Amino acid sequence: MELIIESLRKNYGQKEALKGVSFALHQGVYGLLGPNGSGKSTLMNILTGNLQGTSGKVLWNDQNIVQMGKDYRKILGYVPQQQALYPDFTGVRFLSYIAALQGLTSREAKERIHYALDVVELSDVSGKKIRTYSGGMKQRLLIAQAILADPKLLIMDEPTAGLDPKQRALMRNLIVEIASDKIVLIATHVVSDVEWISKEILLLKEGELIRKGSRDCLVEEVKENMDSVMKKDAKELGLEDVYLYYFGEQYDETDLL
Ligand code: ADP
Ligand code: MG
Repeated sequence: MELIIESLRKNYGQKEALKGVSFALHQGVYGLLGPNGSGKSTLMNILTGNLQGTSGKVLWNDQNIVQMGKDYRKILGYVPQQQALYPDFTGVRFLSYIAALQGLTSREAKERIHYALDVVELSDVSGKKIRTYSGGMKQRLLIAQAILADPKLLIMDEPTAGLDPKQRALMRNLIVEIASDKIVLIATHVVSDVEWISKEILLLKEGELIRKGSRDCLVEEVKENMDSVMKKDAKELGLEDVYLYYFGEQYDETDLL
């Protein structure tokens, strides 16, 4: 199981949103961290086949995902950044609809919907209309649709957007639970979403992948790069400090309010 991204570029007119990004992913959870505008959603949209790169390629087990077409969509689960949910559908109706789109037989659909609702702990409310769901419940429903067909590759764009701290913690546990036999890539600008659950963190800055490594490695690197005056507190450094070190000057103002 391997996803390889090779020299991926994406231009929107004059704007270079991705400037030649290369990396490889294997089984486990990866956190893609970067401030708003760094190119995370663009990368996610290319990895899910919703957008074509200007150049470069994406390979799943040595096969170009563009050529794989339907076969790629079968191994892919996607939690989009925006919530595109039908308020008048019930949870179970929405999942049935997605299952049909994915070509599951009605028997498979029944089994998988039951399983997915159980995993995201929405079985109790599956007969209620989505408009009555809280933000956290909607987000979990989006995860349920993404894992319906038991994807090998799960791509999540800002999965904790709009969630309170308690719901964020539940979301992290849920991600760890479903990641055992998958590649999971989580794009976020929220450090705590991915600090403790990721095998590796990828830092995306202005369309370039500037770092990729385990949390501890990234923290260690930043510790070493700091001058000796600042080093006295280095023992307590965390991923938040790594983020500030690389992105400090462009820290999202909205997050500081
Ligand atoms: P992120 O998800 O990290 O916030 P995006 O991938 O959404 O970043 O955006 C990266 C850059 O590309 C930003 O400067 C954004 O304004 C620009 N961009 C994104 N989508 C489009 C588009 N459809 N047309 C033009 N520019 C875009
Ligand atoms: Mg985004």
